[in-house]
Amino acid sequence: MSKTNSASNPMKLYCSLFGHQYEVSKKVTLHVKEYTCKCCKRELTTNSNGNLIELTPKFKEINVILEDIYTRRRLRLKQKAFTSSIYLNKAVGY
Ligand SMILES: [Zn+2]
Repeated sequence: MSKTNSASNPMKLYCSLFGHQYEVSKKVTLHVKEYTCKCCKRELTTNSNGNLIELTPKFKEINVILEDIYTRRRLRLKQKAFTSSIYLNKAVGY
């Protein structure tokens, strides 16, 4: 897939030459984070395999759900030291 309309942002040229300047914009879970490029504001996220992928609206939704589950799990873990990553994976549909 090639996007021809991406040349409008001059910072994208910088990124294509020197690489993106990603910084963590949000910690979703222990393993999933959202990254934003300081130059062109391109957003990435970590998928279930630990690879970086484009942060599409769908993945934003998934991350909101993930974060919710993660937060609740952490609250529950304070009372009970029991964890199930299978539950988390199923809930998100990976
Ligand atoms: Zn960039």
